[in-house]
Amino acid sequence: MSIAKRPLIANIKGKENSPLVEVEDNQATGKNPLLSDVSEIKRAGHQNIPLAKVIRKKCLECCCFQPGEVRKCHITDCALWPYRMGKNPFHSAKMKGK
Ligand code: SF4
Repeated sequence: MSIAKRPLIANIKGKENSPLVEVEDNQATGKNPLLSDVSEIKRAGHQNIPLAKVIRKKCLECCCFQPGEVRKCHITDCALWPYRMGKNPFHSAKMKGK
C-alpha cells in the first residue's frame, strides 16, 4: 500500500478518460509508463528529454521557478540535489578523469 492516499475516482475530474490513468479498487491509478503508448504520453504533454533536464524542471517547480533558489538549494540529502543544475556531475567528473 502506498503512503500517499490516491484519490477516489470521483475526485479526479477531467482525468476520468485519460489513457494514462486507470481505476483500481475504485481509486485512480497511474498506468505503468513502460507499458503505455508513447503517443499517449506525448499527448499528455510529456517530452522525451534527458533525465537531468527533467530533474532541473522538478527543482525549478520545487523552488517556485526561481533559478537562483535552485542554485542555492542546501537540501543535500535530496536525491535530486546533485542533478539540480540540469547536468550529471558524475559524467562531468568522468570526462575530467576523476
Ligand atoms: S534538490 Fe533542492 S530544489 Fe531540487 S527537489 Fe530537492 S530540495 Fe527541491
